[in-house]
Amino acid sequence: MRLCSLLLATCFFVLAQASAFAQISSNSTQSQVRYNTEHPLHYRIANFDPRLKISQQQMIDLSKQAAAIWEKDTGQHYFVYDPEAEFSIHLVFDQRQIRSMKRAESLNQLEHEQQIWLNENQQLQQLKQNVAQSKMQLELQKTEYQTGVENLQQHKQRSSIKTLFTSIQKQQQDLEQQSVQLQTRIAKHQQLVQQLDLQTEKSKQLYQQLTQSIAEFNQTFKPQTLHKGQFDGDKIFIYEFSSIDDLRLTLAHEFGHALGLKHTQDPKSLMYPRIKAQDAKDFKLTNTDLELLGFSR
Ligand SMILES: [Zn+2]
Repeated sequence: MRLCSLLLATCFFVLAQASAFAQISSNSTQSQVRYNTEHPLHYRIANFDPRLKISQQQMIDLSKQAAAIWEKDTGQHYFVYDPEAEFSIHLVFDQRQIRSMKRAESLNQLEHEQQIWLNENQQLQQLKQNVAQSKMQLELQKTEYQTGVENLQQHKQRSSIKTLFTSIQKQQQDLEQQSVQLQTRIAKHQQLVQQLDLQTEKSKQLYQQLTQSIAEFNQTFKPQTLHKGQFDGDKIFIYEFSSIDDLRLTLAHEFGHALGLKHTQDPKSLMYPRIKAQDAKDFKLTNTDLELLGFSR
């Protein structure tokens, strides 16, 4: 009965980016740890598909990191990498991993698209500021010109004497020059406004494209439950991982099953049947994981 429960697959599942593990067999309640420093588990890495884009050495290092997760806080040496070992770790390259890689690629593309939109939007905000500034300057220049025109009118009324003729003429010339400058500024301002309209339209289109891409992505990569990892007695199979951190944690989880551990109810623990709330980058065993090993804090 006990052997039977050990042989029942204990699985890691993936649910889109949140990964789910399966239920461990119901009667495997024993959590006696099968290995320790005196009697560690020797394992090797089986050959795997180069399309996984991981080197054998990288995978060896990664397996040691996965083992260290169990060993760091316990002081035990449960695992030994040994190229001659019988116990083997297999990275399976099938539809599950292909899908996962496509998903990662699409996500990358999506982030790129989003960045382009953000950049364009930033330009749009800058242009808006420029237009507002230009409008303010234009208003100032207009007021200045109008004041000049009014001054000239008053000057004309007050001094119709011939001696003042040159002075008025000078004032008129200045105003004409101001008028030309004002026309130039108006043209420049209109150009800016046009630019703003174009940029607004461009940003709007990019945003629509982005929304569409996100919808397509969600449609293509609908959450579905997949086997992510499996321990079957003397082998660990890993079927799907979305990143190196994910692979390390998936392997560490299966290592836990190899030690004889069952699942926990604690979402932050390594032996929880899903990868979601755990810190995949820098994972530390939780109290519930340690309790499974017979440690208590
Ligand atoms: Zn599991």
